[in-house]
Amino acid sequence: MEIITIPCLEDNFAYLLICPNTQQAAVVDPSETAPVQKAIEKHGVELTTILNTHHHWDHVGGNKELKAKYPELIIYGHESDRGRIPEQTVFLKSGDEVCFGEQTGTFLHNPGHTSGAITFVFGKTAFTGDTLFAAGCGRLFEGTPEQMHDSLNIQIGGLPDDTELYFGHEYTVANLRFALSVETGNTEINKKLAAVTTLRSSGKFSTPTTLAEERRTNPFMRCSSAEICATVTSREPGHNLSEKEVFRTLRELKNNF
Ligand SMILES: [Zn+2]
Repeated sequence: MEIITIPCLEDNFAYLLICPNTQQAAVVDPSETAPVQKAIEKHGVELTTILNTHHHWDHVGGNKELKAKYPELIIYGHESDRGRIPEQTVFLKSGDEVCFGEQTGTFLHNPGHTSGAITFVFGKTAFTGDTLFAAGCGRLFEGTPEQMHDSLNIQIGGLPDDTELYFGHEYTVANLRFALSVETGNTEINKKLAAVTTLRSSGKFSTPTTLAEERRTNPFMRCSSAEICATVTSREPGHNLSEKEVFRTLRELKNNF
């Protein structure tokens, strides 16, 4: 499967997934139509499918126009997003498969950022939307810190270490700066910050990351790190915080960073 990153809006990513056997394609989170259309034409593929990770406008904004242009489009989203994802045709529930061309994938239900947030998984490639960003995670609009903790650490965290993670926004530099502020002794964060800063200054993007890299640099997947625990506990002295309480406090710190 070939994956084309399509920068959209200010800092969003859509992704064009191409089945090499059929030249049919799926697009993940088309926030707008024009750049997606351009990529379809450039690669000469037939768009058959939209994969929406969640209902936010900056992930589904192109659905209506694309469906008008390609009436046969199949549009996947979680069953609980019924009525919130424009033109949705497939309402995913536990155990369902996700198909386009000759590609078959699965999905993880990841409540936290929204209640119907999902990650699409095709082999060792996953599309995390606004649940996991490189070195960060989405804000908690519709879920609890406990849900988001499990979505990241149990659901996505249960994938193989070398899974490539394609995320929804280019927030990596800011996220790494926050990560460093709560774990100043983590040299992996410094290394990645230097590498991503160089990438960005040459106009390139930091997507994808890998699960192994996130385990080393993403504070929201490192709630048992002694240094992160010490940073967080200094904010709530006298408390012996559980891993999920550390997660909750980290998320609050990030909101105000
Ligand atoms: Zn969102």
